[in-house]
Amino acid sequence: MSDGISNAGRLIVVSNRLPLGPNPSGGLVVALHDALSERSGIWVGTSGQVVDQPGPKFDRHDGLAFERLSFDLSPAEHAGYYLGFSNSVLWPLFHGRADLVDARAADLDVYRAVNDRLAMMLAAEVERDDVIWVQDYHLLPLAGALRKLGVTNRIGFFLHIPFPALYDIMALPNSDEFIRWLGYFDLVGLQTVRDCARLLEAFRSRPDAELLFDASVKFGDQRVEARAFPIGIDTTAFAAEAAAATGPGLPLAPGERMIIGVDRLDYSKGLPNRFRAFRRYLEAHPDSGITLLQIAPPTREDVAAYRDIRDELEGLSGSINGQYADLNWTPIRYIHRPVPRAQLAGLYRQARVGFVTPLADGMNLVAKEYVAAQDGDDPGVLVLSAFAGAAEQMQAALLVNPFDLDDMAGALARALEMPLAERRDRHATLMDGLLTQDIAWWSAAYLKTLRGVKRGLN
Ligand code: ADP
Repeated sequence: MSDGISNAGRLIVVSNRLPLGPNPSGGLVVALHDALSERSGIWVGTSGQVVDQPGPKFDRHDGLAFERLSFDLSPAEHAGYYLGFSNSVLWPLFHGRADLVDARAADLDVYRAVNDRLAMMLAAEVERDDVIWVQDYHLLPLAGALRKLGVTNRIGFFLHIPFPALYDIMALPNSDEFIRWLGYFDLVGLQTVRDCARLLEAFRSRPDAELLFDASVKFGDQRVEARAFPIGIDTTAFAAEAAAATGPGLPLAPGERMIIGVDRLDYSKGLPNRFRAFRRYLEAHPDSGITLLQIAPPTREDVAAYRDIRDELEGLSGSINGQYADLNWTPIRYIHRPVPRAQLAGLYRQARVGFVTPLADGMNLVAKEYVAAQDGDDPGVLVLSAFAGAAEQMQAALLVNPFDLDDMAGALARALEMPLAERRDRHATLMDGLLTQDIAWWSAAYLKTLRGVKRGLN
């Protein structure tokens, strides 16, 4: 294989969960559909089925312009690989929550074993010129496992969540191995420049790694390149969906205005502090008639930390509503279930403020969806945590510190009072960015870099 841009060969995408069904939806599907369709690509991932005896081979699914290969997990694999090492060690640590880590040596063994099993099945599919693109933290060991089986193809990785700080890497039960896992990829894509800096710091701290002049890393006889590719949304489609939304929206009294929050119910999303900041705003503006609509469907409820956050939020919303509600107004409307996409788009558009305050977030697509959903003639205002990856691109939002309640309450007041001209200016700037760096840009930019990446050290 040459060092130049390799345009031959299929694209093989590997992600934890394979999008199944005749019409799969979601950001990654939109991102990868064209790239996979172009050269009879393959998408590989778990089926979502947990079965006692997973088969030794992939199941094949047709019906799309590319092939999909799924595999099942056993109950022990689901517990150790998915709930255990992925979501009770990597997820909390990479989101700066070492206190929530629940590390068990047996889970790490299963995590490695699932990646080894997947590598075995995958190696049998790979052809000489294929390019492999691995998605996210469930599959960190996959490149190393494939290399061990003799696969020499280009292999790229994209981390959708934040890259951890050095001290959080040290809190891993296998920090050395983590760095080695990364070293087997040719390209590691990250959401932000800040994440790239952390990755380089992690390698720089090791005597066996060397930063090269082109900012790639020499690690043993491997070369790894790290670059930021901020993931986007299908901006045009989402804007059109919001403009066409005809649903009832949230019934509001005359003069009542709405702030919206939409998140999976995850401790990284900063929901308790968001509610507290809203209470701080109400303390200063008790008669403002502002309602916070928080949509937070449950997720990963088999992991203990997710049950705790649910109890905390129910307590907070109950006490705030108890203090402020009257016959005509409930200040916090807290909805603990998913909402259909089209309706969500309409709710974003109805809200005067998008209140997006994660304590840590790889990107945060809700911030982007909120902006794309606005009416450009009379747009709402995005209040965005500086700790979301999206803040790096979305400087025209009102950026806040999600640990500082006064800062967030002040930003809510400013957003709700912002003159039309300033709202339009900020929205136009944000929208420009979202249209340029949308989801199609993201996958094209990544794949172009992966196909062109210099391989090896000579
Ligand atoms: P994460 O990937 O950590 O969940 P993101 O903000 O990047 O966070 O992406 C969340 C996605 O899930 C967005 O596309 C958002 O629209 C969708 N989503 C979140 N909550 C809901 C909900 N209650 N109903 C429907 N979709 C939701």
